[in-house]
Amino acid sequence: MVEIRDVHKEFGHGHAAVHVLKGVDLDVARGSVTVILGPSGSGKSTLLRCVNELEDITAGSVVVDGERMGYRVDGKGVLHRLHPKVVARQRRRIGMVFQRFHLFPHMTALENVMEAPRRVRGMSKADARRRAAELLARVGLADRADHYPAQLSGGQQQRVAIARALAMDPELMLFDEPTSALDPELVGEVLAVMKDLAASGMTMIVVTHEIGFAREVADKVVFMDQGVVVEEGPAASVIDNPRERRTREFLAHVL
Ligand code: ATP
Ligand code: MG
Repeated sequence: MVEIRDVHKEFGHGHAAVHVLKGVDLDVARGSVTVILGPSGSGKSTLLRCVNELEDITAGSVVVDGERMGYRVDGKGVLHRLHPKVVARQRRRIGMVFQRFHLFPHMTALENVMEAPRRVRGMSKADARRRAAELLARVGLADRADHYPAQLSGGQQQRVAIARALAMDPELMLFDEPTSALDPELVGEVLAVMKDLAASGMTMIVVTHEIGFAREVADKVVFMDQGVVVEEGPAASVIDNPRERRTREFLAHVL
């Protein structure tokens, strides 16, 4: 479903360039959950942002569902940047949930979820409303549809953000530390929604420090450090029996 090949990302140019991703390779199977662990600054967010083209990669390739993100390769192997409209279409297949919920403060939960299908897809108001209500029910917020973000807890806001991402029927969902801005007692309700989503067959890449979630839900755990994948495999190996010293050192801090 997702094939990340030798992806490099530099910010800036020349002597001032910062080489953040240094040849990342990663495969994500359809319907699987990949959890990415790693210390601050290792490039986890940058990698997610490269997958959905919030960042332009410096080298390498990202293929989602057989389609190369951002570029077309011609018969001679030369890369051509895709038209922004095509890039926008590619990006719509990918939902993203951030640490901060980024809900529209002047819209209710329901209106937040309706917004993209209305604006981007031109869905009718009635259809968008019906779909948004279904999605809010799915994340356990049927009774909060008419609340504004400021009237919702952090955990509820994050569940609205998940419903909003799902409203575009993504094939792939990216989560960047979705629970790390939440009070500890609110983390579980968001993880439970993510677990349901995983059980429904969604393909997911999740950056998180929630080791319990990784153990329980991840098909693959990836440990990143300094812009490379240091180690990957099932939780039982990467978390419970890591091969690499850097992985062991990191886990000693978070476990
Ligand atoms: P954290 O756990 O703190 O979220 P992370 O693994 O997500 O860390 P990134 O946010 O991907 O790390 O950042 C990796 C490195 O890239 C950091 O050194 C950061 O300063 C640098 N970086 C990220 N974005 C930019 C940018 N737009 N311009 C310059 N450097 C950047
Ligand atoms: Mg990050």
